Amino acid sequence: MKDTDRLRTRGGMSFQEQCCDGGLPGKTVFVTTSWDDGDRCDLRLAELLASRRLPATFYVATGGLGTGSTMSAAHLRELSNAGFEIGAHTVTHPVLTEVSASVATRELLDCKRTLENLLGREVPSFAYPKGRYNSAIVGLVREAGYRSARGVRMLSLSHDFPPFEMPVTIQAFPHAWTGYARNLFRRGEVATLARFSLQLGRTKNWVALGKSMFDRVLQHGGAWHLLGHSWQTEKLDGWSELEEILDYISARPGVRYVTNAELCQVEHPRMRTETGVVPQQKVSTH
Ligand SMILES: [Zn+2]
Repeated sequence: MKDTDRLRTRGGMSFQEQCCDGGLPGKTVFVTTSWDDGDRCDLRLAELLASRRLPATFYVATGGLGTGSTMSAAHLRELSNAGFEIGAHTVTHPVLTEVSASVATRELLDCKRTLENLLGREVPSFAYPKGRYNSAIVGLVREAGYRSARGVRMLSLSHDFPPFEMPVTIQAFPHAWTGYARNLFRRGEVATLARFSLQLGRTKNWVALGKSMFDRVLQHGGAWHLLGHSWQTEKLDGWSELEEILDYISARPGVRYVTNAELCQVEHPRMRTETGVVPQQKVSTH
């Protein structure tokens, strides 16, 4: 990617400022996308997103920057300058529930500091490696200075969620029905599973499910959140499916296209002033 302008998506305005004309009558619809791990295929993905004026949050583990297939510091600056959000994903990508509190804290702090030094701006968003966390980890993430954290709980359609347990709607991956069932059972979301079981049984692929969930959010309001890994899309040769869903959800009048940090600011405006209070968090059973 040689030309940052190809990625420039919003001409100095925030996505919230440029995206909507007052919202859909009587409801608010948000769209956000998350991409984990910082693989160089994120650059191809960024072009697909930018050409559709879609924002994104790229969660990056800083340990291997510029080595192997990971993006370099210059790539991250390029994405950030183009208006995409760069979020933190630890240094070495450990499962945080399986390391000591001191190791977890170092992973959280070092990643944040590295990215902030590199980008020259605050990095408020974090994603748990493999989506694994518990109440102690939530506390450490908060103490490290983050304002939100995203897990991998799927099939969420709500924009009202605890900021350190941000869920997603759909993953750009061909999960079998049992994959969704496992994801929800682990997180105690039996009611959600029951709600969507018929639909999951009928759905042919993740794109069809993603479209149907998007239609539901359009109808009732809420947030539609796509999670993916560009390296996985490359490995599965899933780029055309990805483009199909990006075409479907982009350029919809009244929809607010936001980054994850922007979504959290809209939903939790007091986050900036809250200090020292860790709200009650559910403990993942994953
Ligand atoms: Zn990851």
